[in-house]
Amino acid sequence: MNFKLKTLLLACASVASFAAVTQAHSQAPYPDKPISLVVPFAAGGPTDAVARMIAIPMSKSLGQTVLVENVVGAGGTIGVTKVARAAPNGYTILLHHMGMATAPALYRKLSFDPLKDFEYIGQVVDVPMTLLARKDFPANNFAELQTYLKANGNKVSLANAGLGAVSHLCGLLFMSQIGVELTTVPYKGTGPAMNDLLGGQVDLLCDQTTQTVPMIKENRVKVFGVTSSTRLATLPNVPTLAEQGLKGFDVKVWHGMYAPKGTPAPVLEKINVALRAAMQDPMVKQRLTDLSSDIPSSEKMTPAGLKTHLEAEIAKWGPVIKKAGVYAD
Ligand code: ASP
Repeated sequence: MNFKLKTLLLACASVASFAAVTQAHSQAPYPDKPISLVVPFAAGGPTDAVARMIAIPMSKSLGQTVLVENVVGAGGTIGVTKVARAAPNGYTILLHHMGMATAPALYRKLSFDPLKDFEYIGQVVDVPMTLLARKDFPANNFAELQTYLKANGNKVSLANAGLGAVSHLCGLLFMSQIGVELTTVPYKGTGPAMNDLLGGQVDLLCDQTTQTVPMIKENRVKVFGVTSSTRLATLPNVPTLAEQGLKGFDVKVWHGMYAPKGTPAPVLEKINVALRAAMQDPMVKQRLTDLSSDIPSSEKMTPAGLKTHLEAEIAKWGPVIKKAGVYAD
C-alpha cells in the first residue's frame, strides 16, 4: 500500500474516532460541564442575590458548577432573550421574576415570547418590596413624603432597574396612586441603584427585601412602607403602603426558573430536583426567611406550577399596564 493511501486511511480513522468520541461526549449523562444560570440584572441586586444563594446547593445536587451569569440591560429583556435563543441542552438556564409576565404588555417589540420560547422548571421565591428614600431625604413619614412629592414633583428622582423591571412597575403604581410624576432614573439593576441611594445621588427606590432588609435594619436608608398586603415579620414597625392609603397596593415579586424551548424532559427533571433541593437547604431557607421572602409550595415548584402562574400573571398585568398607558419601547 503506498504511503499516500496509508496516510489518507489513518486520517479517516482518526476523524471517525474523534466523531465517535464527540458523539459519545454529547450523549454523556447531563450535566457533564458547568451550567450557566443567567440573571438578567446587574450583580448585587435582589435577583442576583437569590441566584447566588441557590447556585451553591444546586451545584452540589447536579455535581457540576452552576455559574451565575449577569446579562444586563433593557429592564432584563436582554438576558431573557439570550436564554430564549440558547441551545436547548440544559447548560443555559434563567432565573427571572414577574417581569416575565409584564414584558409582553410593556414592550411592543419583544424579542421573546414567554409562553412559546421556554420550558418551565418551577417557581422559586416570592419577595415583597419596600419604598425607600436616601438617608437625608426631607420627609420622615408617609404623610410628609406625599406632601413633599406633591410640592416638588419631577425635582425628585426615583431609581429603577430599567423599563420592565419590578422596581419600575412599583414606581409606576406608586406615582399613579399619589398622582405625581417623578423623574425616573434607570440602572442595569437595583444593585447599582442602591449604591446611588446610599450615596445620596438618587432620592427614592422601590426594591425587594432580598436587598433592602439589611439596609433598613442598619438604618442606612429611610423606609416608608412595604408593598405586601400585610406587615413583614422582619420589619414589624414598617406599615404597608395599603394601610397608609395606597389602595390595592399588594405586590410580591415572584420568581421562576426557565430553560430554552426544546430542552429535553430528563434534563428539566434533573434541574427541577436540584432547585427543590436548593430551596430545602437549611441555609437558603433561613436566609430567605430573614429577608422576608416566601418559599413557594411544592406544587408551585413544578413546571406546570410555574407555567400556570405565568399565564395568570400575563392575563392580570396586561390590562393594568395598558390602562396605565405605559410602554417600555
Ligand atoms: N430584580 C431586579 C434586580 O435584581 C430589580 C428589578 O427588577 O427592579 O436588579
